Amino acid sequence: MIGSINGKKVEFQDNETILSVAKRTGHFIPTLCEMADINHAPGTCRVCLVDMKRKNDPAHHIVTSCTTPMEAGMAVLTRTPKVREMQRLQVELLLADHNQDCASCIRHGNCELQDVAQFVGLQQTRYHYPHFYLQRSRDTSSPSVVRDMSKCIRCFRCVNVCREIQGVDALVVTEKGLSTQISVRDHLPLGSSDCVGCGQCILVCPVGALAEKDDIEEAMDYLYDPDMVTVFQFAPAIRIALGEEFNLPAGTNVEGKIITALKKLGADVVLDTNFTADLVIMEESSELLQRVKSSAPLPMFTSCCPAWISYMEKNYPEMKEHVSTTKSPQQCFGAIAKTYLAEKMEIDACRMRVISIMPCTAKKGEAKRDEFIKDERPEVDVVLTTREFARLLKREGLNPAELAPSAFDNHWMGDYSGAAVIFGTTGGVMEAAIRTVHKMVTDKELSQVEFTAVRGLENIREAAVDLGEGIGVVKLAVAHTLKAAGQLMARIKSGEASYHFVEVMACPGGCLGGGGQPRSKHAYQAAREERRQGLYAIDKEAPVRQSHNNPLIRKLYTDYLEKPLGHKSHRLLHTGYTDRKRLVRHTMKEIWQEIEERT
Ligand code: SF4
Ligand code: SF4
Ligand code: SF4
Repeated sequence: MIGSINGKKVEFQDNETILSVAKRTGHFIPTLCEMADINHAPGTCRVCLVDMKRKNDPAHHIVTSCTTPMEAGMAVLTRTPKVREMQRLQVELLLADHNQDCASCIRHGNCELQDVAQFVGLQQTRYHYPHFYLQRSRDTSSPSVVRDMSKCIRCFRCVNVCREIQGVDALVVTEKGLSTQISVRDHLPLGSSDCVGCGQCILVCPVGALAEKDDIEEAMDYLYDPDMVTVFQFAPAIRIALGEEFNLPAGTNVEGKIITALKKLGADVVLDTNFTADLVIMEESSELLQRVKSSAPLPMFTSCCPAWISYMEKNYPEMKEHVSTTKSPQQCFGAIAKTYLAEKMEIDACRMRVISIMPCTAKKGEAKRDEFIKDERPEVDVVLTTREFARLLKREGLNPAELAPSAFDNHWMGDYSGAAVIFGTTGGVMEAAIRTVHKMVTDKELSQVEFTAVRGLENIREAAVDLGEGIGVVKLAVAHTLKAAGQLMARIKSGEASYHFVEVMACPGGCLGGGGQPRSKHAYQAAREERRQGLYAIDKEAPVRQSHNNPLIRKLYTDYLEKPLGHKSHRLLHTGYTDRKRLVRHTMKEIWQEIEERT
């Protein structure tokens, strides 16, 4: 069918909305609720107004373009004086009910509401209703995510992502009309709810209503304290995404520039979480083989992703014995840095502060788990997301794009394999493990080091590997997004599917799509493919591509740990899980009600 937008002929399919046709044909219409690659509740922001005239009807109508289907012969105008005036008024009304403390807002300069206000030419805001927005609370109860509902414009994107992508459904729409709010289910504080801290809702929030908990000040305190020795680690998915914050193309490897930037910031020791990703593979692969050979519960699930662990503990605690006891690479790093590294470098571990840079908001919560605090000292002291690290660099006037790269120079933890790098993408932990399990069982390297059967972006993928006599065929599954994890778990529990080894990553695409990564204003998963290819390219170029061939991992076992699953490994690198299903929900709900009654 044919119609026109701004006088230009456009072709479209039946039931396509004006907004969709406009986007496809390069006509910009502002919107604050629609976002590419997520479903959205149409018409919630009401900014996408256009002038529309039907064939055989001389009347002009102002309509929301996301709810109005394009019709044959329809003429649409997007920039008439009336449209501009109505859009301006709509944005003004959104701002009237919005806490406009832009200067201190985490999203200042990177805010879709600011962009739209500029686009519609808003020069003053005549209406302010603080008594409305100040009633809406700021919730800092989660170690990962801060919700400031005084800034919420009720676009519903977060509700959709939490429900449709993650299947967690922690957020709900409550009240009606002008009183509509986004609430946490059961009116719980976020930190006591079903939320797992994945931060996917932050990636879609157009304003500063959802943000990572900001821990930059604590990191700076340690950096500028002469009595402290700061040891930094950064995760695989940081190096191929940080550049986006500094106008470099997605997928650009800025590993060397990060090392330089951290040294300029005053970091005492700069290391890579990849080292302990290799260590995790040694422990987890040994654990898998031990389980396959004994009567221990199978399948064994991976344990690197704290949002997955939280989801499992809250929804499937009866399966906790199925999860690998190996700690995540972040926590293994903290445990090894404060023992082995401290000993080798002759640093007093009490003065050591481990600071992580992670793609992940859930890692902030992981570092605070009771299990990872020994003698009142956490294994990991501060966790910064990629976005926080970028803000820290900007505050300190450092632009990685302009820095010369440096190399790791630590003789104890400064090497990593290509297998460790691909931890940053869905299927990567599984692929890394198979490279090592194959060697452990057959004493031979895989003939094809790239085990591509587990690669891809389907939400649930299956594969198998024949490990020969004694073990036989090992059945594998990979899931990314928690909705997919829930579906897979249902099939496993019903007996419909059976596996030996299952990898779960909470975020779409794995950690490269983590809730702490740079966000795009245009699409939820804009840079996913470039980041993925960036990680695989680093693996391909790596001189060592299997965790068991990392020379410093071998040295760690020879000099200190003795062997995978040995006594020291158990003490430092393994953990357990807790049933958090009903306990938290009931007691916290009661506490919250009590607080509300008192205030
Ligand atoms: S952090 Fe994740 S689980 Fe929590 S509300 Fe946001 S999307 Fe849902
Ligand atoms: S918190 Fe953000 S994403 Fe959620 S409804 Fe409010 S503005 Fe939209
Ligand atoms: S997939 Fe990675 S980034 Fe996402 S929650 Fe898990 S560990 Fe964090």
